[in-house]
Amino acid sequence: MRQLLKVLLSFLISSVIVFSANSANSANSANSDIIQSPINFVTMDDEIHREPWLSYLKLLEYKKSALAMSESDALWWLLRKAETEHLLYFKDDFAKTVQQAQSKVTEQTPEEIASKLNVFSGMLATINGDYAISINFFNKALSQAKSAGLNIIYIMGKQELAYSRSLTESYDTSLIELQGAYVEAFALEDTFLLATINETYGAIYGYMGEYEQSVEYYKKALDIYEQLGYQYHIAEAIFGLASTYRYWKKYELATAQFELYDKKISYTPNKDLSFYAAYGLGMTLAEKGDCLKAIEVIDSALKLNGMVDYNGELLKRKTVCLITLGQLIEAEKQLEKVKEIFGGFPELDGPTWKLEIIKIESELEHAKGNERAAYLLAKDYYQKYTKSTARFDRVRTAMEIERKDVEISLLQQKAEVQLLQVEQQNQRNILQRYIIFFVVFLILVVLVLLFVQNNYTRKIYALSIKDPLSNLYNRRYIFDYLDKLLARQVDKKSELSVMMVDIDDFKELNNKYGHPFGDYVIEKIGEIGQAILRNDDVMARIGGEEYLCVLPRIEAQQCLLIAQRFLKNVNQYKFTTENGMTLSITVSIGITSLSGAPLDGPTLYTQADEALYHSKQQGKNQVTVYHEITDS
Ligand code: GH3
Ligand code: MG
Ligand code: MG
Repeated sequence: MRQLLKVLLSFLISSVIVFSANSANSANSANSDIIQSPINFVTMDDEIHREPWLSYLKLLEYKKSALAMSESDALWWLLRKAETEHLLYFKDDFAKTVQQAQSKVTEQTPEEIASKLNVFSGMLATINGDYAISINFFNKALSQAKSAGLNIIYIMGKQELAYSRSLTESYDTSLIELQGAYVEAFALEDTFLLATINETYGAIYGYMGEYEQSVEYYKKALDIYEQLGYQYHIAEAIFGLASTYRYWKKYELATAQFELYDKKISYTPNKDLSFYAAYGLGMTLAEKGDCLKAIEVIDSALKLNGMVDYNGELLKRKTVCLITLGQLIEAEKQLEKVKEIFGGFPELDGPTWKLEIIKIESELEHAKGNERAAYLLAKDYYQKYTKSTARFDRVRTAMEIERKDVEISLLQQKAEVQLLQVEQQNQRNILQRYIIFFVVFLILVVLVLLFVQNNYTRKIYALSIKDPLSNLYNRRYIFDYLDKLLARQVDKKSELSVMMVDIDDFKELNNKYGHPFGDYVIEKIGEIGQAILRNDDVMARIGGEEYLCVLPRIEAQQCLLIAQRFLKNVNQYKFTTENGMTLSITVSIGITSLSGAPLDGPTLYTQADEALYHSKQQGKNQVTVYHEITDS
């Protein structure tokens, strides 16, 4: 019953092959310029799919204007013309063009042209019902495409072969072929190719009675076709969808889709196509049980230029309707016509159409009241039906599972690649962390080294300016300090005093009690001096038992008081010798102050020394102010 529909579908699906799916090429849109523009035969796939009518006109125009075409261009031109004719349903022209092209094919013809032409020839054979010949052509196209590495033509050829096999009802082999095409198209990630395969699945699922899946596949395909704007394919997918709804007994949906199809085919000037819309509507009405209206539509469809096997299918429907309406003699006449038509296609010798005729015969016998004959026919029908569907179901289920497995394994491969990428990234992250850690560590080490170095330098410096015995500043430091202080003395009025201290009769102490005792005294007197002085004051040991003190912002009188306190504290201190003897020791002091005079360090030192000398002269253990001896 669906045989003829399959033939139509084969015609539509086979077209897919013709246009290998390099659909990325964008062609100019519809305008007259297109006709004048130069032709690049190799890249016009997409353009032909989107605007078959304009492409056709452009090709004709090109032929008129081209002076002479090379042999290869002439073949390309014929191939492209055949493609547009096919998409426009110019069936006779298509057949002629293909024949013409085939006669020009030589050993030197590029494989792309030769393999496509063989696909076309296969399609033509399929349309004529010469399935054995068509399969031959497809196999030839396949081996050419394979050896030339034309992946897309190869996959489409496989699909076409699958489709042709499904027409002769070898569902199992056809599904295996289609399976192969699907796996390869999936790997190529070619959307157009996948859409055409989905469309084929839609058709095959439709025959199998898996309507939900059939609709799903058709819709997937239609979606892509609409995105690409491929008019022929849109129309064909809608026709397929409508047919599935029809099989599914969703008559309202089927009717709507057939009417939509009638609109979509307006892109081609070929008016014969409305036969298919009428065919679909007639079949739908008949199956719905609206027999009066159905017979009316079927009769009008039969008047159109439809294909003979489609007419056979319509006649079958009409027969059933006539039985329903009780017009049994007319019904019997129509059934004979049906048998004649199907008998003319030996390759259609599969179980389905025969089964359907048995079923109709059984219904006819029943209507005539021949119950025994009706029963035997019905029994025959169900036995054969069960056998064929059971075998087919097994194949289909196995295929479906395998197809899912392929998708899963491809997805798994992608997932593994992703996992590897993530792992690689992780390793990169770890390495990065190590590098950061190392750099931070290095910085810390450098910082620690710098710190240690700095401390060391500071210690060295501290040692370099100190006197190790008394822990007071040394000679160099205090003279530097004094120079800097005087240099900074911007306000010349600010005061500063210098005090020089010398231990009295120190040589004698050394001689009597030993050097270590002398050292102890030097140290102790340093401590006594520091206890008296302020934080700002600086005291240094500048020679054996001589000290120099610098007292900023202290004028002579204040300095005198400090010196006297120094003297007194030294006097009062009990120095203990090694034998436990206590001694009193004295110092002599000389002081001087700036008192407004712009003096330098050496001068101040000399003055303090002179004052000290004066103290010694006057009997030691006393303080002398430099200005007092000079004034007097
Ligand atoms: P005057 O009262 O006139 O200052 O007499 P003096 O003996 O203190 O003077 P002098 O400058 O003649 O003697 C200083 C002595 O100090 C000479 C030297 O042996 C001693 N001396 C120098 N440096 C040190 C030192 O570091 N330790 C010890 N124990 N003695 C030292
Ligand atoms: Mg002395
Ligand atoms: Mg001295």
